[in-house]
Amino acid sequence: MRKFSKQKCLVTTRLTTERTQRLDRLPKYLFSEMEKAVLEKKSRGIDLISFGIGDPDLPTPDFILSTLREEISNPKNHNYSLSQGELEFREAVAEWYKKRFRVDLDPHKEVLALIGSKEGLANLARAYINPGDKVLVPDPAYPVYANGATLLCDGVPVVMPLLGKNGFKPDLEKVSKEGAKLLFLNYPNNPTAAAVDRRFLEELVDFAQKNRLVVCYDNAYSEIAFDNFAPQSLMQIEGSKEVGIEIHSCSKTFNMTGDRIGFAVGSEQVIGNLSQIKTQIDSGPSLYVQKAAITGLRSYTSNGPPECVRKNVATYQQRRDVLVKELRSLGLQCETPKATFYVWASCGTDSMGVSKRMLEKGVVVTPGIGFGKYGEGFLRFALTIPIDRIEEACERISNIM
Ligand code: PLP
Repeated sequence: MRKFSKQKCLVTTRLTTERTQRLDRLPKYLFSEMEKAVLEKKSRGIDLISFGIGDPDLPTPDFILSTLREEISNPKNHNYSLSQGELEFREAVAEWYKKRFRVDLDPHKEVLALIGSKEGLANLARAYINPGDKVLVPDPAYPVYANGATLLCDGVPVVMPLLGKNGFKPDLEKVSKEGAKLLFLNYPNNPTAAAVDRRFLEELVDFAQKNRLVVCYDNAYSEIAFDNFAPQSLMQIEGSKEVGIEIHSCSKTFNMTGDRIGFAVGSEQVIGNLSQIKTQIDSGPSLYVQKAAITGLRSYTSNGPPECVRKNVATYQQRRDVLVKELRSLGLQCETPKATFYVWASCGTDSMGVSKRMLEKGVVVTPGIGFGKYGEGFLRFALTIPIDRIEEACERISNIM
């Protein structure tokens, strides 16, 4: 009996270690060493100032919270929701696009609710990528395009370098597109904070048409923009609905990262295919979350965002100005971002080494190498901490650079 349980144990152990090749193909998680060091410091009660997390510290607007409170107490809102999102939510998205971008969308065919945009990005590849298919991904980038989407579908990421000399935009003329089926791009950009103009979006649509690519344009930061800059939508470009979709999120616009609600819009075929994938995997976002997001989206007018979004942006802008000034005085070069809540600062080389030295001083930043090979030599600072802490952090790292 004893022998039997030992054997059984061995079999179980072997099975649990036999992971799929696709899981093994995921790159080493570069932040884990940093995360361990951060946890260790926290457990010793060390005061850390963190620029590391792209999660707003500002509160969810009161009017959204009060809708959430009201809707969550209605038992009907605890049933399954439609996989593609409730029609009222999709209509609110279409109205928002009309007000914000002057774009017409059919809420029945061209809008899909997402349980946060991350899920939509990852699931889209399931609809388009067969094993071995190539996917064009930016580098540095939000890691989901290469990993959660491409590698987990047994696809092959083909890197489009985002270089400072090109304004952190891909040089579409030089991109090796042979056989690629799908392309991800994201502006305003995480992590470089770069933004693009209408001309670039036109080139992108043209490039996709010529090369028969499906485009997934991630516009999650379109509402966090400064100095009267208003990022555009890919959907404003003629022909965009034939080549792909745009992904959005309420996470950053309304400080709702934990509520998990986003949306995809655009090509009827792409939306239909993504929707079909999702029906096999999940249901729609919680009904009370959809209702809260509707209130947020409908708070926009044709004159622009509501007061709460304007206030958020003004806060990030003040923080940006302080941080950019401080970093430059420390000798770290950086552009003044036109959008997003990130500052992308050049640190020479060895971004991991510099980040570790900063951590020793109690300051957490994200090493650029964690966003891809072309992120090396940069640090990402998230503007998700108040000004007095930004100043204190810069004081702490003043003798490092
Ligand atoms: N896209 C980009 C570029 C991001 O930086 C993030 C989150 O940081 C997301 C998408 C995911 O946002 P969510 O899943 O919260 O909508």
